[in-house]
Amino acid sequence: MKQKEKVILATNDDGVHSPGLHQLAEALKEVGRVVVIAPDRERNAAGHALTLHKPLRADEIRPGVFSVNGTPTDCVNLGVLYLLKGSARPDLVVSGINKGSNLGDDVTYSGTVSAAMEGTLLGIPSIAFSQLGDGQFHFEAAARFGIGLARLVLEEGLSREVFLNVNVPNLPASEIKGVRITTLGKRVFNDSAIIENTDPRGRKYFWIGLNGVTWEKRKNADHEAVERGEISVTPLHLDLTHHETVERLHSWKKRLETEIN
Ligand code: MN
Repeated sequence: MKQKEKVILATNDDGVHSPGLHQLAEALKEVGRVVVIAPDRERNAAGHALTLHKPLRADEIRPGVFSVNGTPTDCVNLGVLYLLKGSARPDLVVSGINKGSNLGDDVTYSGTVSAAMEGTLLGIPSIAFSQLGDGQFHFEAAARFGIGLARLVLEEGLSREVFLNVNVPNLPASEIKGVRITTLGKRVFNDSAIIENTDPRGRKYFWIGLNGVTWEKRKNADHEAVERGEISVTPLHLDLTHHETVERLHSWKKRLETEIN
């Protein structure tokens, strides 16, 4: 019997017209049927936002390419639970290839990573892809790597509540040094990171996220891999409960209960 063709939902946070998304979608046609469901405009740093208080529209702008007036999370949610429900339910969700890195703590702000998180919440293996660079992006390496990784994930599966965050150095494919399995880096926040200025009406305003990033030294951190020219693959886990602290809080419980009555 012929195996059912795999369905891949591709999204991003750079918008439905971003070249990174189309290179990834094009490449993954080698692996299955790719349906693009992506925001109608840039939704960078949208985090895991879901639109609950305005109507969402999904326009099929080309066969198999939907433009949605929502966030990356909306796209995956609407895609899995409605547009691709039933027999077209995706076997894999991919997000990217994002223009710019999503390393370390930054994953919590990232629309790209949140889309993969949403896929994972919906029980579908998911991968986020980000390409380092500044204006000029070499998407070929990430797209080619995506084919191999998508195949492996479809064959082998991922643990429950686990998804993959991939960052690709800003190099042509031939200059990539290898693949490193990494952990999330830890950002060092310094107090010069916020720029204060005054607007033409004399009111103060602030601009965040302008200064270069510094990282804490950590073994196998994702940012170190890409600095060395390696593709970084970080497994992320959605279970945010810290189980050791559950134990610790048990010892606080008595005292907390005496405070309420
Ligand atoms: Mn982006």
